[in-house]
Amino acid sequence: MNFTKKKYPWISNLKKKGLDDPVCGAGYSKISLAANGMYYPCSAWQSYPVGNSYKETLQDVWKNSDKLIYLRSIRRKHLTKCNDCEAKNYCSFCFVRNFNENNGDMLTPAKHFCDVAFINKKVVEKYRKNNNNQ
Ligand code: SF4
Repeated sequence: MNFTKKKYPWISNLKKKGLDDPVCGAGYSKISLAANGMYYPCSAWQSYPVGNSYKETLQDVWKNSDKLIYLRSIRRKHLTKCNDCEAKNYCSFCFVRNFNENNGDMLTPAKHFCDVAFINKKVVEKYRKNNNNQ
């Protein structure tokens, strides 16, 4: 379930890149319900259950899940390694990928994805340089 910007204008904070802005929509602007009845912060993050639809309503989970409350508290300033990173504009930081690659540590960037961001940066800069020289 994704919440609409019209009904929930605070979602537009996800587009902002300031240090006090949220990092990701997982548990902030979306939640996922799987066929097994479990809620997850994102459909890709089924190793991180945040509630059980057989025991709790969606509203209860959304408002009271400690895991969702924690996710919503994370801001860009908490990603200390990323704030000064040269590739941050070419990167799509993802809690799930880090969580899965780093034994549950969602805040430490996984090396593989940093490598991808630096490759993106290199490709884009090369493209721009080539196009500026024509
Ligand atoms: S490349 Fe790595 S360190 Fe840089 S912004 Fe992305 S996740 Fe953070």
